[in-house]
Amino acid sequence: MGATLEEHLVATRKGRYDSYLAFLRIPSISALPQHAEDCRRAAQWLADALTEAGLEHAEVAETGGRPVVYADWLHAPDAPTVLVYGHYDVQPVDPLELWTSPPFEPIIVGDRLLARGAADDKGHVHAHVMAAEALLTTRGALPVNVKYVFEGEEESGSENLDRWLAANAKRLAADVVIISDTGFFEGNRPAITIGLRGLMYAQIDVVGTPVDVHSGGYGGVVENPVNALAQIIAALKGPDGRIRIPGFYDNVVALTEAERAAIAALPFDEEAFRQRLGVPALVGEVGYSVLERKGARPTLDVNGIWGGFMGEGSKTIIPAHAHAKVSCRLVTAQDPARIFEAFRAYVEEIAPPGVTTTVRQLGGGRPSLTPQDHPATQAAARALEATFGQAPVYIREGGSIPVCASFDSILGLPVVLLGFSQPDEHAHAPNEWIDLNNYETGIRMFARMWDELAVLPR
Ligand SMILES: [Zn+2]
Repeated sequence: MGATLEEHLVATRKGRYDSYLAFLRIPSISALPQHAEDCRRAAQWLADALTEAGLEHAEVAETGGRPVVYADWLHAPDAPTVLVYGHYDVQPVDPLELWTSPPFEPIIVGDRLLARGAADDKGHVHAHVMAAEALLTTRGALPVNVKYVFEGEEESGSENLDRWLAANAKRLAADVVIISDTGFFEGNRPAITIGLRGLMYAQIDVVGTPVDVHSGGYGGVVENPVNALAQIIAALKGPDGRIRIPGFYDNVVALTEAERAAIAALPFDEEAFRQRLGVPALVGEVGYSVLERKGARPTLDVNGIWGGFMGEGSKTIIPAHAHAKVSCRLVTAQDPARIFEAFRAYVEEIAPPGVTTTVRQLGGGRPSLTPQDHPATQAAARALEATFGQAPVYIREGGSIPVCASFDSILGLPVVLLGFSQPDEHAHAPNEWIDLNNYETGIRMFARMWDELAVLPR
């Protein structure tokens, strides 16, 4: 008799780590043009690993930007088809001096593996490949049909993905999408993310005189663009944390009493959270808890502001122009295009006379919300509990994975967000790490997930 899945995974651990580390050594930073070749190298590495695992039709598919890696296994005629999404690209690594070891020279310290991408998102991607390898080696088959789509531009805006998804919609037909790019709740508690916020990103440009002018000679008669911009920004949000743009909240789906109760029941220590952030107080929209404000309510924040004299000492001018970048995190069912229009109209309305104020959109992504009682979500809950030994909590993440909404709108598929990185993984920051126990158990969890999906009534 052949080895069981568990015996196989125990016996192959060393080789698996070698492979994971090799993947992490490729600096596939999608945002930086000088790493374009590294992204291709990572894509090819991944396609080869998928083939080696026994998956078929592995392909480095062109998108116009960083390629998508596709592979499938479609020999379970009576079982559902799952589309797996992850990304092989990583965030830039600066500030480099804050890393305790070089970001692309992964090291294992105790149970921790340290490297850029260890958690976000190469850990999940690699775990999926290893789960398929273990199932195909020990059983000769997967319990479900699986199509893998591993993106290379997630960390730089997924610019080409929607077009690629639409062009390949037929080939990508499936019953459900599993996105593995999220993590567990505080205290490394298994979690399923059911909500993700969307994004509206804009820039405000305020222009006065063609060039800077003398503040003595012209102060009091021309509008100062920096003052004007400050006035505009101050009017965007009230002291109660409410955003004042007319119509901003129109399409926000209110939290139900049951949802509020579920969020309130999450094991969350507000004071510890505040202390970890090092701030004197937590702030936000009146009438909502910290977790509600952080995951289930929309926001508006200035991300950057500049204009005028910023050197040492003093220079007496009225600056010619001022600028700000502003982003809104959106919740279901706010539409980024409509929110931008409302934002633009309001800024133009409140802009003081004497300056020219323009607003342009820099980016956007739709929010998403998965029903907690969807059979695939419940299958994921069973897979997590069976492998990690604890029932998952359901959480709403403050961040955005725009592709989540794309799978819904372009392919019409339900999405389950199933990842296992620990909450304090330092994703996007120096010293990113993953708990290798999460990674190892995560492989078993994915294998179990396919078994759980295979037995769902169709
Ligand atoms: Zn990610």
